[in-house]
Amino acid sequence: MTKFIFVTGGVVSSLGKGIAASSLGALLQARGYSVRLRKLDPYLNVDPGTMSPLQHGEVYVTEDGTETDLDLGHYERFTGVCAHASDSTTTGKIYSTVLTKERRGDYLGATIQVVPHIIDEIKAFITAGLTGEDFIICEIGGTVGDIEGLPFLEAIRQLSNDLGRENTLFVHLTLLPYIAAAGELKTKPTQHSVKELLSFGIQPDILLCRSDRPISQEAKQKLGLFCNVRPERVIEAQDIDTIYQVPVSYHQEGLDLQVCRYFGLEAKENLDLSKWHTVADRIRHPDGQVNIAIVGKYVQLLDAYKSLSEALIHAGIANNVHVKLHWLDAADAGNFQDGLAGMQGILVPGGFGERGIEGKLRAIRIAREKKIPYLGICLGMQLAVIEAARNLAGLTEASSTEFGPTLDPIVGMMTEWMDGKMLHQRSQEGDLGGTMRLGAYPCDIKEGSLAHKIYGATSIYERHRHRYEVNMTYHDRLESVGLHFTGLSPDRQLPEIIERQDHPWFVGVQFHPELKSRPFDPHPLFVSFVAAAIHQERLV
Ligand code: GLN
Repeated sequence: MTKFIFVTGGVVSSLGKGIAASSLGALLQARGYSVRLRKLDPYLNVDPGTMSPLQHGEVYVTEDGTETDLDLGHYERFTGVCAHASDSTTTGKIYSTVLTKERRGDYLGATIQVVPHIIDEIKAFITAGLTGEDFIICEIGGTVGDIEGLPFLEAIRQLSNDLGRENTLFVHLTLLPYIAAAGELKTKPTQHSVKELLSFGIQPDILLCRSDRPISQEAKQKLGLFCNVRPERVIEAQDIDTIYQVPVSYHQEGLDLQVCRYFGLEAKENLDLSKWHTVADRIRHPDGQVNIAIVGKYVQLLDAYKSLSEALIHAGIANNVHVKLHWLDAADAGNFQDGLAGMQGILVPGGFGERGIEGKLRAIRIAREKKIPYLGICLGMQLAVIEAARNLAGLTEASSTEFGPTLDPIVGMMTEWMDGKMLHQRSQEGDLGGTMRLGAYPCDIKEGSLAHKIYGATSIYERHRHRYEVNMTYHDRLESVGLHFTGLSPDRQLPEIIERQDHPWFVGVQFHPELKSRPFDPHPLFVSFVAAAIHQERLV
């Protein structure tokens, strides 16, 4: 029977529950078990799709086109298991489902209440659509004690009763702060957090304790005593220089061993974690450095570009270099020439809205003219097309309808497109949550192109998240100024990849390749981009 592990967080937010859950997943996989990770977010948005990246961080898009929390990116990167729509929910989504059922009359006249209706919907989400996984690891967003989180805690409490304590395990991630004046790590906040959990009827089985230094045996004993947890199940989670070392470090502290013992599963002592060691070793001992500028508009919160930074780290691992990222604010009117000095590669990532557009266009022009390797992702591709149209094809008014009405809508909103045999339609007036091309779509690659060389394939699937498309009407004019359309949707309507052949490495992609990059399977576009950056000699 599938075992359920619930991961909650206490004391403060941002302790890295997502990495903790992912690392546990990776360790259980290393023990030969199949895992699936799920995330429950307490906020009221139906999904994070409409939330500002500056508040919420990146919106991670799954293969099936669900907009989810960035933690799902960690899950995929650590376990290699593709997430689905059924692996992510929010309070908003749960309420929305319940209210739709209520309007349909599904509840046969009953009074709809948080208990049982909302709680039952959460329980149904956690246990739905299983395909024989050994473990479901469920991360509860937020911090224990948040008002919004209560229904989730009630749901997992009930589930542990329904499924049996022998099939459910509670991991509580907390913080032991170091108080310099006392010269010690403090256990009291954790004790209080556990007390709070107990008040909801949840006794944690494992405490995973973040700290900036080793936790003494004495502190573990104390936590064990006051929190009613065996001392060997008080696991140290010390700060570490790379997230890809976390599974190894948790293993050394006995996390996976304790999980197996809890469930009465056989647990061999020696696990093969060599691939994790190799990745961490490559990150720690690179053979040099390469400087990449990222010209974006959400650079005040780097979580907004989580998958992107990780994909570049993976490409660094593959090329055996440290990829030093230089974040440049596109909206900052400052001198780009200065910011780009010494850069070996320029990347314009995805984004929405008009702010910062001129800065990005300037950076793209510099990359094109100075022959600096350039990678444009989604908006970064659309802007590369606009830049060529304006500065090479003489279409000075060229723009995207996203930024307002324009005489030359080089980029415009598509209202219909095909996905296989299915016609997708969206309306200009549709609500923001439902008007994007989302998830994996096929792209045909032109033989002999740089993209073909990079992918080693003529047909690929990549994940999308955008409303606007490069307008095929301008195809010939753009090709005539050296901007080649080397990747197209199978029906030839939607440009997916553009590149320049008069440039050492200039590629724009309408999709988000960063979403599919993994530490053990780095994305070829990033690997090739970083390699080009290493080997080019022209600096700004
Ligand atoms: N804003 C652009 C669009 O919606 C690009 C989106 C993106 O970069 N993800 O098409």
